[in-house]
Amino acid sequence: MSLIECKNLVMNYENKVAVDDVSFTIEKGDYLCIVGENGSGKTTLMKGILGLKKYNSGNIEYNIKRNEIGYLPQQTIIQKDFPASVYEVILSGCLNRSKFNPFFSKQQKNVAKENMERLGISNLAKKSYRDLSGGQQQRVLLARALCATGELLVLDEPVTALDPIATTDMYDIIQSLNRDNGITIVMISHDIDSAIVYGNKIIHMGNKMEFFGSTNDYVLSNSYRRMLKKIQ
Ligand code: ADP
Repeated sequence: MSLIECKNLVMNYENKVAVDDVSFTIEKGDYLCIVGENGSGKTTLMKGILGLKKYNSGNIEYNIKRNEIGYLPQQTIIQKDFPASVYEVILSGCLNRSKFNPFFSKQQKNVAKENMERLGISNLAKKSYRDLSGGQQQRVLLARALCATGELLVLDEPVTALDPIATTDMYDIIQSLNRDNGITIVMISHDIDSAIVYGNKIIHMGNKMEFFGSTNDYVLSNSYRRMLKKIQ
């Protein structure tokens, strides 16, 4: 079943076309990686999917409620210094489920606790978020994103600021969420090697869509060859 279907999507900034005639589907269980150079429209496309920026033409069809999409944004410096406990940060991920109620229900608190356990960070619950390592902070934000969803996670460059060990750790967790928990993953990535190891599908953006299809087909494509040449 497709969770999201994009048809002929066009997204502009003033007079500049950032996403140009892009069509693809996200199927349940996919691990879809969006790759491409800087400025190729990856972030803009993701904002379109999340409903954070309006598209100019084309269509997006959702077979999932939009507030059931978990989102892990790129970490900013301000977030790194957030003065709250780990548990509070994770629980705040439950907010968009109860717009009209400022208090968290017992069920929401349980969801937050379950996600802490799932990511192996229950022992950090009372610690201050800003005292954690980069890898631990990403786990917390992932647990927070999971409070919004058991279905689809959208991750924007989740390993950018991490050291190699924390990077592998993060990729393993994401893979397990996909394989063991059936959570569909959409990930923007600069790391092409990992994208083809972990992802089952690839979107290669170049403002227009250079490639959309299975990872197996992507590694045989001209888009991939061109990308490798640029990296080397
Ligand atoms: P990527 O995520 O692949 O680096 P972006 O989606 O951020 O690419 O950007 C795509 C294009 O849109 C780029 O040419 C960029 O300069 C332009 N762009 C991105 N954000 C804005 C903005 N807020 N205002 C104007 N142009 C933007």
